[in-house]
Amino acid sequence: MRRYIDEVEPLVLARSAGSSLFDVDGRRYLDASASWWVAVLGHGHPRLLRALREQSETMGHVALAGITHEPAAMLATELCAVAPRGLDHAFFTDDGSTAVECALKMALQFRYLHDDRRTRFVALEGAFHGDTLGCTSVGGVEVFRRPFADVVVDCVHVPVAPEGDDVGQARAMEVLVELVEKEGASIAAVIVEPLVQGAAGMRMVPPEYLRALAQACTKHDVLWIADEVFTGYGRTGTMWACEQAGVVPDMLCTAKGFSGGLLPMAATLVSDRIFDAFAQGERAFYYGHSFCGNPLGAAVAREVLAVFREERILESIQPKLRRIREAFDGFASLPGVKRTRSLGMIGALDLAESSSYLGKLGWRVYEAALARGAWLRPLGDTVYITPPLTISDAELDELLGIVHDSIRAVVR
Ligand SMILES: *Cc1c(COP(=O)(O)O)cnc(C)c1O
Repeated sequence: MRRYIDEVEPLVLARSAGSSLFDVDGRRYLDASASWWVAVLGHGHPRLLRALREQSETMGHVALAGITHEPAAMLATELCAVAPRGLDHAFFTDDGSTAVECALKMALQFRYLHDDRRTRFVALEGAFHGDTLGCTSVGGVEVFRRPFADVVVDCVHVPVAPEGDDVGQARAMEVLVELVEKEGASIAAVIVEPLVQGAAGMRMVPPEYLRALAQACTKHDVLWIADEVFTGYGRTGTMWACEQAGVVPDMLCTAKGFSGGLLPMAATLVSDRIFDAFAQGERAFYYGHSFCGNPLGAAVAREVLAVFREERILESIQPKLRRIREAFDGFASLPGVKRTRSLGMIGALDLAESSSYLGKLGWRVYEAALARGAWLRPLGDTVYITPPLTISDAELDELLGIVHDSIRAVVR
């Protein structure tokens, strides 16, 4: 904090529009990460702004308690219609962390209601699921977890194999399946970021892994949670990452792109089986928070879905994701680049053999990119782009050019 106060010159932003951020001096920066993965439709999308304006003039917020309203009710219906089949119920929360926290508590209360004292969780090494204490418990990024390690909920972290290491992948899959088989009776739920571990440095987890996980969980009656907070809403090239593995979780968390990055709003989707456990008698799910189903967030989230449908967002990104793949394949031969990877609207490269969150190389590229007109915040030694899905072809080319030039400027 001291260094931040004394030395760091923060960007002072005045405005954002489309894929660009503008500082108070009028300089423009391409938003390479879509503002930490939230602005999937870019900044200031006119349809989202209109939905927000109209809703704010009608009803800002009311407690969703013995009350319902069109924005929340219609959002639940429309969201479940595009969710993986079988996820027919939605619980609204405020952000990615509370969407995950809600899933964890729901898994615990689900077991409790069945007089079943399974209280452990299983997550992957390097996983990021948010910052509440529950999310910290399942988080597998060591630096984020260490200060709280004495008080967190019990969670077993299973290994993730490095990319391209097929033997390691097979072994990691075995470890997980064995754990579910042998310890299933003590596991409340397994949680996973499907296909990509975002905060870990855009580490790819193959679809076969997800399929093995789903199969083992179903076989041994262990619940599993897909945290699609980052991967959902087209980021991996399809609406949900789970689709690419052909699996359906017991619970799915969505946030970030869910409300177009305009307002904090999120949802936890669940199957009939989970819902039914809470549906009888006095069995409320004990999670009633002030802003549940917020009409402003709900109106915007509905409009995001409408834009996805009507502007054919998922079709429109296909040429762009090919462009990202080609460019990052090409970056592999740049001096200093150890490894590259891409999936959907994600391109990433490592500047160190074992990329760490506290690594400094990415930050030098960050400075170089800032001078060239892009906000390219790294994850330690990993440099990545996750631009708005609506980025134009010309802007995407410009961004890829800046990534290239910034790496050349820093690593020789
Ligand atoms: C960002 C993120 C979260 C937490 O979301 P917040 O909105 O920051 O609370 C949870 N899970 C994943 C996979 C994320 O990327």
